[in-house]
Amino acid sequence: MKTLRSHVRGAWHEAKDGFLPLVNPSTEEEIARASSAGIDFGAVLEHARGVGGPALRAMTFAERGALLKSASKRLRDHRDELLALSRDNNGTTTPDGSFDIDGATGTLAFYAVVGKRLGDRKVLADGDGLQLGRSEGFWSQHAWLPRHGVAVHINAFNFPAWGWAEKAACAWLAGVPVVTKPATATSLVAERMVEILVEAEVLPAGVLQSICGSTGDLLDQLGPQDVVAFTGSADTARKLRTRAHQLEANPRFNVEADSLNAAVLAPDVDPAAEGATWNLFVKDVVREMTQKAGQKCTAVRRILVPASRLDAVRDALVAKLDQVVVGNPADESVRMGPLASAAQLQDAEAGVQELVEGGAHLVRGSGRRVDGIGSPEGRGFFLEPTLLVADGSQDGAVHRREVFAPVATLLPYDGSAEGAAGQVALGGGTLVTSVYGDDASWREDFVAQAGATTGRLYVGSKESAGDAFGSGAALPGSLHGGPGRAGGGEELGGLVGVTRYMQRLALQGGRTVVEGLAGAADPTD
Ligand code: NAP
Repeated sequence: MKTLRSHVRGAWHEAKDGFLPLVNPSTEEEIARASSAGIDFGAVLEHARGVGGPALRAMTFAERGALLKSASKRLRDHRDELLALSRDNNGTTTPDGSFDIDGATGTLAFYAVVGKRLGDRKVLADGDGLQLGRSEGFWSQHAWLPRHGVAVHINAFNFPAWGWAEKAACAWLAGVPVVTKPATATSLVAERMVEILVEAEVLPAGVLQSICGSTGDLLDQLGPQDVVAFTGSADTARKLRTRAHQLEANPRFNVEADSLNAAVLAPDVDPAAEGATWNLFVKDVVREMTQKAGQKCTAVRRILVPASRLDAVRDALVAKLDQVVVGNPADESVRMGPLASAAQLQDAEAGVQELVEGGAHLVRGSGRRVDGIGSPEGRGFFLEPTLLVADGSQDGAVHRREVFAPVATLLPYDGSAEGAAGQVALGGGTLVTSVYGDDASWREDFVAQAGATTGRLYVGSKESAGDAFGSGAALPGSLHGGPGRAGGGEELGGLVGVTRYMQRLALQGGRTVVEGLAGAADPTD
């Protein structure tokens, strides 16, 4: 059996004990083991700060962009191998694996272009300067400089490739070295990606270190120049961000957590007419429930429909969900794989039970494990696409319990923008809300009332029906993150994600001096 290794201080570290198993979720066969026992985490941080950081800060944005381009290319060269590892450890079909792996290389490539555009500078001017004195002799300009610390990236199990690459792309472009920690249960793909980059020697020493297994006492040794970017459950986020050392040393802490994302059908969309906006709504909702077996932070969990449309929406969704073949992705007929681990299956079953106890009723799926096509009987962590209906007008389980699985609940509302926005807000802050409708005035009311409760608002309409990627795609040019329960973090969004790893500095002095230090014009113009 394969023993995963961490890459620290320029060498591979293989633990001797403390192993946790990695399994194939379609067969439950143990395929690897991981442990970080024996790593000196203080030395890891020193290596990043003392070797990786100076190397990156000596480079211009264009040079860092070139690094990202090489990294993206090397990883792309191994696409098929990575897809196979994703299938074996994450239970992904090829399209689902590609969402993760091509998402990773695509995001690195996107930021390579951003770096190239920023060019031969090392400092980013931020917005316009301002005259502070009676003349330009006293001027102010904000500018971004790389932090002199380490970016510690803690990732969730569901995106072992994209999860670390989207964070690393931003940190490296900012000039900050990375220590990355994949979720242990699905660390096979991330470990191999690091190995590919190490073998290809595309990155300077100290720029990328990886931990397979726990982070030990690493977080207790962070300082004020460091940045933690965490993706995972709201519970873990709360534990980590309230630790005494975190509060005392105050490294920047970015959180991407749970989210009860909502898809909202506006009242002007008539199912019977089968127009472009209706078709987009059905296609998006089914995809966002079943892609990666619903194990996406941006998946649709709540489906809000005018009460008069409830039966038509339910019937249309059930008819599509009935066509989804669930099983081992090694079987070509399979369209949706298993949940990633026994713990995830257990949590999903418990979650459906909580929704039912909270008043929801099942209209498709049992909420219990099923056998999957192409897997031995009784083996594999399979759950059918599961649809429930509930009254969402009051706060309750449906607005609080994220079931991280192909599970969503239909919620009738009164047809008003206010009624829909009120239910969306009960989720406590989401990563993405999608709304489908062609009535501009209704849409405007909805956005005014629901916009502040979500990080991204995806508007499905006749205009976008032919082009839109779906609400679940976190694209590097658009902000990823949401308020409240979703963590309050910000990632991606072009330069927004890069500046998470930089310090904004107010430079003051004579105009020419200040502008010289800040690096010519504002690159965001
Ligand atoms: P999780 O259990 O919270 O774990 C997330 C990461 O935190 C893992 O790498 C885990 O490592 C690590 N971790 C757990 N306890 C830790 C500790 N005490 N110190 C340091 N690291 C610790 O979440 P998950 O089950 O992997 O992911 C599912 C959740 O992530 C869902 O709730 C989903 O909504 C959320 N998610 C959010 C986004 C987003 O962008 N907002 C994206 C994807 C997923 P081990 O695996 O070694 O325990």
